Amino acid sequence: MPTDKFQKQIPNKIHPGERLVDTHCSYCGMQCGMKLRVDIASNKIIGVEPRYDFPVNLGKLCPKGTTAYQQVNHPDRIKRPLIRDNAALKGTSEGFREASWDEALDLIVRKYQELQEKYGKDTLSVYSGVSMTNEKCYLTGKFARIALQTRYIDYNGRFCMSSAAAGLNRSLGIDRGSTVPWTDIHQTDCLFITGSNAAECHPTSMFRIWEVQNRGGYLIVVDPRETPLARRADIHLDIRPGTDLALANGIVHLLIEKGYVDEEFVKNHTNGFEETKELVKDFTPEYVSEITGCDIQKIIRAAEIYGKAPNAIVMFCRGVEQQSKGTDNVSAYTNMALVTGKIGRPKSGVATLTGQGNGQGGREHGQKADQLPGYRKMDNPEDVKLVAERWGVPVCEMPKKGVSAYEMFQLMLDKTIRSLYLLCSNPAVSAPNQNHVRSALKQLDFMVCVDFYLSESAEYADVILPTTTWAEDEGTTTNLEGRVIRHNQAQNWYAESKPDWWIQIEIAKRMGRGEYFGHLQSPRDIFTELTELSRGAVADYSGITYEKIEQNNGVFWPCTSDEDQGQPHLFLDKQFYHPDGKAKICALPYRPPAEEPCEEYPLRLTTGRVVFHYLSGNQTRRIPFLKEMYPDPLLEVHPETAEAYGIKHDEVVVLKTRRGQAKYKVKIIEAIRPDTVFVPYHWGKDECINLLTNPALDPYSRMPEFKACAAQIVKLDKGGKYHG
Ligand code: SF4
Repeated sequence: MPTDKFQKQIPNKIHPGERLVDTHCSYCGMQCGMKLRVDIASNKIIGVEPRYDFPVNLGKLCPKGTTAYQQVNHPDRIKRPLIRDNAALKGTSEGFREASWDEALDLIVRKYQELQEKYGKDTLSVYSGVSMTNEKCYLTGKFARIALQTRYIDYNGRFCMSSAAAGLNRSLGIDRGSTVPWTDIHQTDCLFITGSNAAECHPTSMFRIWEVQNRGGYLIVVDPRETPLARRADIHLDIRPGTDLALANGIVHLLIEKGYVDEEFVKNHTNGFEETKELVKDFTPEYVSEITGCDIQKIIRAAEIYGKAPNAIVMFCRGVEQQSKGTDNVSAYTNMALVTGKIGRPKSGVATLTGQGNGQGGREHGQKADQLPGYRKMDNPEDVKLVAERWGVPVCEMPKKGVSAYEMFQLMLDKTIRSLYLLCSNPAVSAPNQNHVRSALKQLDFMVCVDFYLSESAEYADVILPTTTWAEDEGTTTNLEGRVIRHNQAQNWYAESKPDWWIQIEIAKRMGRGEYFGHLQSPRDIFTELTELSRGAVADYSGITYEKIEQNNGVFWPCTSDEDQGQPHLFLDKQFYHPDGKAKICALPYRPPAEEPCEEYPLRLTTGRVVFHYLSGNQTRRIPFLKEMYPDPLLEVHPETAEAYGIKHDEVVVLKTRRGQAKYKVKIIEAIRPDTVFVPYHWGKDECINLLTNPALDPYSRMPEFKACAAQIVKLDKGGKYHG
């Protein structure tokens, strides 16, 4: 492991009657190390202690991490299976009765068989998530394709990491979110961070980020809002939402013009430079400023700082990825590293700030519509053949490629899909264009939801199966660095809940497909099958074992043999993962957002997170401290805009787009562009900002354009009524 100036050895105190269990946070991609305090007498988790030995966070936890343990024995936990008795109450939390596991599972299998007999195998669908362990993500892909025999499986990472994955694959031939370990961050000379509110979304990265400036290095931040990160930046480029591609092309234009190109690196290790040079010629600072709204001198200075820095890391997050050209944005920012040769060595590279806990591993093991375990591809016959052989099914029985998450809802509306198995996700809050998504869920013939709380999406289910939280099971996740880490079980399964792997294997057996699943008795068995199947694939885990993870505080993939200790840094040998070993510098013409402001909708709406909540808020909105700190969504408006609309701080207004509308309390704040408004996305029902967001999809990643659409504010009358 690299040496780390922040490393401290502080012993944890063990209180009498308690034990400490080493594990990791359940929430974001940092996967901070923590110790759960367990009361020995009751075998219940009662608290958390910092863990100083995990190099990513070194004892630090954010407000979500310090309260994550409160999810486990929360009074809202679902204790036993629930069956809906009253179909008229779909879309509400009413109309369920408790049932035994046998009754619930038998009902599911009977319904599945009836539907498949009538409408074909592909009438079933699975929609999963990446807050699950690698073992569960892997098994979910196999469950959909082999137990349910459907092509329709996709996951919520489609709304989170899919553009990072597609962009990095295109540029570098591999999608490991970070080319360097997090312990490199504070040692670099320049951080260029774009589309990330890291101080709120990845707070335990901040001690390393601030250290770059403390050492005399530079911090450049691109964000339409003056976030806590942007506030302390040396340069803040306050970009118009949805215009990143122009800015990235403009920076590359300046890097070339001002002589910062690493000619030797470009010649020997990349393709595409000449086409890109030609394309970015037009992206002068003046032209880029016109599109992005950023100050010309700041654009020039940012390029100079990045170009001059001996080492630099470009970091990006959902702000650039959740666009209808998110893939292009990722490749365009990666171009900065490739033209200057600031990649493939320590302290330099690109890094994506992964949102969900297992956003990295969850996209590697085969729960994407177009992908098989190890990052193998559904449209590669060799890959399909290999996986079919390992799973022991004839190739002709392997389902074909499915469709992306948002497109599955469209297939539900046209009745191609009549049933949904939903796990680890809450699309009735998190998907764009909610009116459409909620109609799709409501009209399903049969829906199963696996969750530990009755989420907004679970309200549409016919059967709810209670699953365990992260702390009640063991397994691995892969954090934002590409480090595979181990989660340990701290307490027994809550009430009658069961882990997802147990549920899926049980359904598989009852569907008559037990021969493909019966040998899997535990997460460890599943991990062994996963690692074996990944051998020789891009995401090669074949040299990773639970023991090796334990001994090394995590193992970076690729790790290809018992002797291999994994690769914290990628491309040190300057070999990229395209067949010719070269990276691709991509020539990417600028496209505006799918929806630009107009007379009727003159504002740009963008969305994001706050430090106190996670994703759809299904977990964090139940934790008293987090709820108290940020109880309701607020609409952030610049004072000039507020004045133009005649609205005051705390006033309730309607925010409206072409897809829907919702009421929000106004927060007047200078830290946002006057042409832009912001609403966080952690709330459901009538407060859900995704009633308004645009489902325009990126052509490669199929990511919806959450980050930019046209909106208007409507004032309520004196009686609080809306006339729109
Ligand atoms: Fe958990 Fe992320 Fe906070 Fe770390 S930064 S404690 S992983 S939510």
